[in-house]
Amino acid sequence: MSNTGIKTDLTRLKGVGPKLAEQLGKLDIHSLEDLLFHLPFRYEDRSRVVPIGSLQPMQPAVIQGEVTRVDVLFGKRRSLVVRLQDHSGSLNLRFYHFSAAQKNGFRIGQPIRCYGETRRGASGLELYHPEYKQLSSADEPLPPACLTPVYPATEGISQPRLRLLMDQALDWLQSGEMQLNDLLPADWCQQWQLPTLAEAILYLHRPPTEVQLSDILLGRHPAQQRLILEELMAHQLSMHRLRTQTRAHQAPAMVTSQQLKPALLNQLPFSPTGAQQRVSGEICADMQQPQPMLRLVQGDVGSGKTLVAAMAICQALENGYQAAMMAPTEILAEQHRDNLSGWFEPMGIRCAWLGGKSRGKAREATLEHIRNGDAQLVIGTHALFQDAVGFHNLGLIVVDEQHRFGVHQRLALKEKGGSLGLSPHQLIMTATPIPRTLAMSAYADLDTSVIDELPPGRSPITTVAIADNRREEVIERVSNACQQGAQAYWVCTLIEESETLQCQAAEDTAADLTEQLPHLRIGLVHGRMKPAEKADIMAAFKQHQLDLLVATTVIEVGVDVPNASLMIIENPERLGLAQLHQLRGRVGRGAAKSHCVLLYKNPLSQNGKQRIQVMRESQDGFYIAEQDLMLRGPGELLGTRQTGLQLLRIADLERDGDLLPQVKDMATAFWQQHPEKVDSLIQRWLGDAEQFAQV
Ligand code: ADP
Ligand code: MG
Repeated sequence: MSNTGIKTDLTRLKGVGPKLAEQLGKLDIHSLEDLLFHLPFRYEDRSRVVPIGSLQPMQPAVIQGEVTRVDVLFGKRRSLVVRLQDHSGSLNLRFYHFSAAQKNGFRIGQPIRCYGETRRGASGLELYHPEYKQLSSADEPLPPACLTPVYPATEGISQPRLRLLMDQALDWLQSGEMQLNDLLPADWCQQWQLPTLAEAILYLHRPPTEVQLSDILLGRHPAQQRLILEELMAHQLSMHRLRTQTRAHQAPAMVTSQQLKPALLNQLPFSPTGAQQRVSGEICADMQQPQPMLRLVQGDVGSGKTLVAAMAICQALENGYQAAMMAPTEILAEQHRDNLSGWFEPMGIRCAWLGGKSRGKAREATLEHIRNGDAQLVIGTHALFQDAVGFHNLGLIVVDEQHRFGVHQRLALKEKGGSLGLSPHQLIMTATPIPRTLAMSAYADLDTSVIDELPPGRSPITTVAIADNRREEVIERVSNACQQGAQAYWVCTLIEESETLQCQAAEDTAADLTEQLPHLRIGLVHGRMKPAEKADIMAAFKQHQLDLLVATTVIEVGVDVPNASLMIIENPERLGLAQLHQLRGRVGRGAAKSHCVLLYKNPLSQNGKQRIQVMRESQDGFYIAEQDLMLRGPGELLGTRQTGLQLLRIADLERDGDLLPQVKDMATAFWQQHPEKVDSLIQRWLGDAEQFAQV
């Protein structure tokens, strides 16, 4: 945070010393401005006093009356009980935690106003630990008619305390003694019919009692819209700035590949699809520029992203630069290693492998080869991100299945360009289509290409849902299919956090199936196995030395065995749509008609039913991703950690997603017309978080 003006002055508030300032820090409140941006998350209507006689149980209410008794009761727990009476009736206030001073503060005959929620107690309705105030006289007026804000709070800072602090700051803001730097141009507010920043802030802390609370809950009120737009715009600008900064780096300009690429294509038994050619052309043009490419390639499972990456790799290698390809899981990285080294080694390219489990001398030697440039193409898992890995002259990074990586990790890679001080080109490939709304936010800094065509000869996958009381039938079906020469996957799922349990389930299932299907060759692969073991099993399955592969969701990404045409997914209700789509994409890769059986457990939740229905009706990754977003929300879809969207304070992408087109326009205009304010705006909303995002 910068140290100017109202930013520093938290201790200017009456009652704020170093200790409270520190506690406020836990709420991310470090300055008066932060305090004002700490908005209520709900409101209470305390604008009128309710007669005690008309109270209902569980009703939040303001009541006012005279103290008629003060007792300390010794029941199961000691409690202080204060009897309060008004013209219509009486009730008890009950305190389990209280001090002698608090007890002595209550005097018979004294008027008290309190707020709390009624509960049924031993003696009729009671208020437990109400907020209360001793009145100087019974006709002390109620505070001005506005809703009472309830703030996100933390230990050691009560609601009344926060409100008192807020009141001081709001009074200063209202009287003009303190000013907020309104970063939106005044004519914009007019044009979009938005309040000024100060108006919006004042309104949201102290809305009048006649406000439609539903408007506020839905984020529709102009005061909120003003802040939501500003916040989303700050994020958009931050992305734009990051991109501009990245583009300001030098990258190696690479001419089109004249030899390697034609040689690569020559060895293939097929030719690239039109979509692969088009996307490859877009990448090729980017890499000819002396600025780093930042391109996201979206292509549904099986659309042939690996080949597109390989064509880009040709360009880097032929220009004398190193290329790196990385994947989120060991299995997928191994598969890339096999594919790519199969393609590149015959052409005389030196490939290196860097897995998470490479250790000792071998690892040291590999690192040295990467550092001195002996290794031209480096393939691995995210172990590649580690600090120890330095490149000689990295010219291209390909990150596969990006939704599993953090944006942070992606950006960390740009530091790995090596001794030349050049930033590598970055190609990010994802099979999970990023829905438009998200594409406009967390991914706004990337150019995108879409591979919107599958290689020819693929046949659609038929998906059926079957309850697990018909398990025997399904096993029968696997048996028949395999006897006719097909291969099948049997996927065991469990809650993702427990890898051990998931592996256990797969082991049990493999044992059961082996017993029931003695005539089939059955293999097992899961995340707890040694890489070499896994690789052997995968190779055996690929070569059709196995008929049935029992697996955990480790095979979710990338695994490619065209002869496999049947997949059973157990407990699909436990998985998200994106994951199911990934899994299912393991079949339907050859010419044979493919089937996917969702073997679910009854009873299904409503949401589980909906997800299974989506899987049955569609094979379109974009449609499925949109449905996933609707059913689960953006945080879960991409993993909140990865989106950067958990940083949103007021906006809510699901609720406010429809504002994004407007936000984009505003951000563009702001960048052009008010460049000098961009940094302040980003700082206000993203603060230090933005720097974190750049690490
Ligand atoms: P994904 O986009 O899911 O990563 P892959 O790159 O693994 O897809 O490709 C899936 C399969 O399709 C692989 O067996 C690959 O060799 C094959 N393939 C890729 N491009 C073509 C093409 N143009 N024609 C035929 N098959 C192709
Ligand atoms: Mg792939």
